[in-house]
Amino acid sequence: MDNELKKEIINCSRCALCMEVCPVYKVKQTETSVLRGKFLQLLGLIRGDLKYDKNIAYNLDLCLGCKKCKTACPSDIDAVKIFAKVKEENMTLFEKIFYGALMFKIKILFLKILYKVKYPIGRRYYKKTNSTKPNEKIAHFNGCATKAIGLKFSIPSKFEKENFSCCALPFFVKGRLDLYEKYKKRNIDLIKKYDKVVFDCATCFDTVKNYEGIGDELKNKLIYFTDFYKNKNLKSDKKLKISFHKPCHLDNKTFEEIENILNNIENIQYERMEGFDECCGFGGDFFIRHPKTAISLSIKKAENILKLNPDIILTTCPTCLWSLKFGIKTKNMKIKAYDLADFLHNFILIKD
Ligand code: SF4
Ligand code: SF4
Repeated sequence: MDNELKKEIINCSRCALCMEVCPVYKVKQTETSVLRGKFLQLLGLIRGDLKYDKNIAYNLDLCLGCKKCKTACPSDIDAVKIFAKVKEENMTLFEKIFYGALMFKIKILFLKILYKVKYPIGRRYYKKTNSTKPNEKIAHFNGCATKAIGLKFSIPSKFEKENFSCCALPFFVKGRLDLYEKYKKRNIDLIKKYDKVVFDCATCFDTVKNYEGIGDELKNKLIYFTDFYKNKNLKSDKKLKISFHKPCHLDNKTFEEIENILNNIENIQYERMEGFDECCGFGGDFFIRHPKTAISLSIKKAENILKLNPDIILTTCPTCLWSLKFGIKTKNMKIKAYDLADFLHNFILIKD
């Protein structure tokens, strides 16, 4: 293992601050489901006291990749990166195939069929934006879930149709760092062709913004679609009570902007629900690998939604939307779940 990563493991003071925020620990409540226990096992590997086995592999895999622990950690330890590296070094041929590109497409298809995600008619972004200038070349970042689910985009001619690859986070968390690098490189090359690239999935946005070595010049080209709705005069035809699930990968600044937009739509009553920023539990295909843990988190989320009882619950990541729909269905609730971009496009009028 990389010496820097070894140092990070050794630097863990076992303070357990990450325990408070780890969604997996909240469900499992075991020492090996939280970083303190996982790192003790990794220390055993480093010192040669332990051998990598199914037990260690299972514990490392029991992670949603949500990065909440990194935010809480006083030493800024990047557990997701450490796990990715250990997984890569110990990957079996079966895992290599199971975590490969083809299997990934099959898994997305499976989730699509299972939850019958039906999006409303499409998305449309607006030419007048805050961060774009006339005649700029703009592309939409269509990540894997967007493409696999077959979302239909209604994009003004100003937007170029581009075929981006998956943001590659699913490959990173599984330790397929070769595929992560391949897709990362392809996406970076495509971003270079444009003045701006617009995202509508919080997870893709966070992953691409944080590509190692992306540099400020390219980073400044990346914008979230909500930029198009900032400072606009917005109105809903119907009076609606709305709440929002904050995906783990949605940064706080964009979240604040989203809340501002929702708070300023005429006829919309926006309220934060309890646990608005707690993980929905699905984290890519975590649901397939650890269904019991994922379902517990999804149901907890549904219970919090029910306490507030909005007409509509919104989010801004396709995987979170699957989880919300799953929880709502399980609890037989009448509440509708929509992707924020679809909601703004289909329910909200721009009065200007
Ligand atoms: S990334 Fe999330 S699930 Fe994984 S250890 Fe950190 S807090 Fe827990
Ligand atoms: S918060 Fe950081 S230092 Fe504390 S136990 Fe977790 S990983 Fe270790």
